[in-house]
Amino acid sequence: MSGDCVFCQIVSGQLKSKFIYEGKTFVAFHDIEPKAPTHVLLVPREHIPSLQSVTADQSEMLTELFTSIPTIAEQLGLGEKGYKVVINTGTEGGQTVPHLHVHILGGKQLPQMF
Ligand code: 5GP
Ligand code: ZN
Repeated sequence: MSGDCVFCQIVSGQLKSKFIYEGKTFVAFHDIEPKAPTHVLLVPREHIPSLQSVTADQSEMLTELFTSIPTIAEQLGLGEKGYKVVINTGTEGGQTVPHLHVHILGGKQLPQMF
């Protein structure tokens, strides 16, 4: 827990947010400024600054989080048409909240980045 971290405050319940999924090691909630009709964030309970600071110690969380994506996508009604999974990392990667999180975006045809 990092006291001044907005996602730590959401994870701990200090800042109210409705969880759409609660795993053992992560929670999921809707993005406050959605960039697509459906935009959900998967946030580890542990404060990990970014993908760049991930280590093998976090493998349980990483496995749970990534293997839960199909279930969460299905729950959001995205399973059939598809969705994007994004992890912005660091300044040039466009990360604005320094607590690791995975975006799930869907609900319309999303632009190709590559
Ligand atoms: P990043 O740009 O770091 O990859 O993504 C951070 C995301 O967190 C942004 O899409 C932003 O809208 C979202 N966000 C920032 N603060 C809050 C908040 O207090 N609540 C929720 N639900 N989302 C937030
Ligand atoms: Zn945090």
